Amino acid sequence: MGIILIILTLAMGLEYNNKVYQVETKMINKSRDLKFTYFSAKDLQSVIGFEMEEKPLTQRIILKYKTKEISLYPDNPWSEIGEEVVNLPIPPVREKNKVWLPLPLVSEIVDYFVEMQVKIEEVRPQNKRLIISETKRRIKKIVIDAGHGGKDPGAVGPNRVQEKDITLGIAKLTAIALEERLGIECILTRQTDIFVPLGRRARIANQSKSDLFISIHCNADPKRQRQGEGTEIYFLSPAKTNWSRAVEARENASLEYETKEERSEVETILWDLAQTEFLIESNTLSGEMVNCVSNALGSYNRGVKQANFYVLRGVYMPTCLLEVEFISNAKWEKKLQTQDIQLLISEGIVEGVRKFKTWYER
Ligand SMILES: [Zn+2]
Repeated sequence: MGIILIILTLAMGLEYNNKVYQVETKMINKSRDLKFTYFSAKDLQSVIGFEMEEKPLTQRIILKYKTKEISLYPDNPWSEIGEEVVNLPIPPVREKNKVWLPLPLVSEIVDYFVEMQVKIEEVRPQNKRLIISETKRRIKKIVIDAGHGGKDPGAVGPNRVQEKDITLGIAKLTAIALEERLGIECILTRQTDIFVPLGRRARIANQSKSDLFISIHCNADPKRQRQGEGTEIYFLSPAKTNWSRAVEARENASLEYETKEERSEVETILWDLAQTEFLIESNTLSGEMVNCVSNALGSYNRGVKQANFYVLRGVYMPTCLLEVEFISNAKWEKKLQTQDIQLLISEGIVEGVRKFKTWYER
C-alpha cells in the first residue's frame, strides 16, 4: 500500500435529472492488483451544484449544499457527513490541486446532499455510466449461481460425489424458497448440468439488472480429508490468508475448462468499479449469510473471508460466495447429497437474504 500510480484518465457519462453529463475519471493503483476508479470532484460539483472549499492548512475539503456540510481529508478514510463521522473503505485523493473521489464516497455525497442513489450501469459492453436516481434501494431480483457444471465438476468427494451436483440442488431449492417466502424473483445461471463460463455468469447478472448475486459452492480440503467442517462466506477483495488463497485458486480453476475466447472475457474485467461500490454491502451480506447458514445446519461457523474470485468480478451488485461445508469430508459428502440437508441450507440462505434485505432497504 502507499504507492499511488495514476494510469489513465477517461470521461464517463453521468445521468442526473434526465440529462447526461461527462465526468472525468481516473484509475488509481493502490497496490499491484488493486485499482480503483476515482471521479473528479470538480465535475461532480458542477453537476450536483454544491460548493467546494479547501483549507490548505488543515487539508480539509468542505462541501456545502444548502444547509448541509461534508468534510473530507485526502488519503484519510474518515469523513464528516453532517453530524456523522464515517469511515469509508477507500479515501479521497488530492493530486496537483485536483480532488478525486472514489465511488463509495460519491454515493455518500449524493445520498446526503440530494437524497438519491448512485448506480453503475453498463450501457454497452466496456461502456459504463453512472446514474443518479431517486429509486429506493430494493431487493426484488436475485441471481443464484450454482457453482461449476458440465465438464467442470468442481471439488470431488472421497466417494466421487461432485460439487456441481450439490450446488445445483441447493440453488434450485433456494430459488423456489426465495420466491415463495420473500416474493423475490430469482434467476439461475444454470438450471441443468451444463458448463457456463465465469464471465457469462457475471453478464447474466448485469443484464438482468438484478439486486444481488449469490454464488453457491462446497468447500474441500484435500490435505485433511475427513476433518474439514463448517461454512464460510467470501466477498470479493484481494486474498488475505493462505487458506483464502487456496480456496480462491480452487474456485478460479474453473477457468481451465474455458476456451480462449471465454477466458478473455473474464480477464478484461478489471476489479475496479464493479465491486468497490458494494464493499460494505457485500461484507454485510456475507456476515448475515454465514450466521444464518451455519445456524440452519447447526454446524461450525468459519466466518466471513475475502478472496479474489473471477466469478464475482465485474458484477454490478452486492455479491457473496458461499462455501457450504466440505465435500472432501466423507460425513458431509454423504449429507450434502440429501434433500433434507439441501433444504436446510436453502432455508439458511433465505434467512440471510431476509436479514440483509431489512438492513439494505432501511
Ligand atoms: Zn466451487
